[in-house]
Amino acid sequence: MKLVGAAYCMRRVFRILLILGVLGVLLIIVSSVLVCGVGAKKPAQRNACINNLRQIDGAKEDVALTQKLKPGDVVLVDDVIVLLKGKQWPVCPAGGTYAVGLVDQPPRCTVAGHSLN
Ligand SMILES: [Zn+2]
Repeated sequence: MKLVGAAYCMRRVFRILLILGVLGVLLIIVSSVLVCGVGAKKPAQRNACINNLRQIDGAKEDVALTQKLKPGDVVLVDDVIVLLKGKQWPVCPAGGTYAVGLVDQPPRCTVAGHSLN
């Protein structure tokens, strides 16, 4: 009678360990999928942001040429927007904000790694 009880107890312990093992494997799979998803998103956001910065830079150069601005002069955002596609200020996909900067400086994004350099 006691042996049957011990065998039953061992079977229950084995089932619990099996369930915990399966849950652990599932947790590892789900977390790795989530990490890969976030990791793949960042370069795409960075590339889209750099394309926005290139558009701003090109429009900014046009403004500097047409207004005959000198290095160190301020370029107004409103003058740049008029030359952008759709006449709309681009939005950084990672939530950063853009600064036009001076004539001799490249436009910048507030997100680290989003730059023309
Ligand atoms: Zn950005």
